[in-house]
Amino acid sequence: MKIGGMMWDKNYKGRYILIEPTDYCNCNCIMCTRELVGVENPHNTPKGFMDFEVFKAIIDGLEFGSEPLAIKLFWIGESMLHPDFKKMLKYASEKIVDKNAYIDLHTNATLLNKEMIDFMLTLGNALPRITFSLDAQKKCTHEIIRRGGSLDHAKEQIKYFLLEREKKHLLFPRFIFQFIIMEENKDECNDFVKYWADFINENVKISLDEAWGNLNKETRKKVLEENGIYEEFYGN
Ligand code: SF4
Repeated sequence: MKIGGMMWDKNYKGRYILIEPTDYCNCNCIMCTRELVGVENPHNTPKGFMDFEVFKAIIDGLEFGSEPLAIKLFWIGESMLHPDFKKMLKYASEKIVDKNAYIDLHTNATLLNKEMIDFMLTLGNALPRITFSLDAQKKCTHEIIRRGGSLDHAKEQIKYFLLEREKKHLLFPRFIFQFIIMEENKDECNDFVKYWADFINENVKISLDEAWGNLNKETRKKVLEENGIYEEFYGN
């Protein structure tokens, strides 16, 4: 089945604030900051879950101006693990109504469920973008890169998200499929692009800027050229 869709709008740029609901993660990815710096806890403080009252106080203290403010609700952890994450999304989205601000979210998609997706689809332009960090097309590659998460589950949930979004004729959230090119997945980036492009009936692009990990720039470019894929990851 092919569905129509709109991806990220590059006009959403400006100031941002990072709020990390938790630095726990259900995955242990080989390219994660904590893996790259070789420490279990890069913040050098005990891991935890942000108290909802602290979250509220941060949101209440935000200053809005003429430049758009992105409230990025993630960092070195999977926000969906937080038991209050839905409450946080609701609180933040209600606080930024009529403000020049929006929520930005990255997720490994392996903890998504229908209830959360249905809720996110009600948030309108408060949540204009979700990035699904997948980095693999094959299950075995995902198991090597995104250790601990199920690619099958992530794909199933993302498809539900896309289909529901289509059914409801929603403009937001737009979406990005993230694929960081690495030695481990470089042979399947073309299949990844084709798979999602075919499903959403739209171009899916890969960005050289997003390609990091253990490939040097020359190799990344070669991979993209050999696969005949785009140089940019997201569409307009
Ligand atoms: S999903 Fe993100 S935060 Fe979690 S281990 Fe992977 S890269 Fe790190």
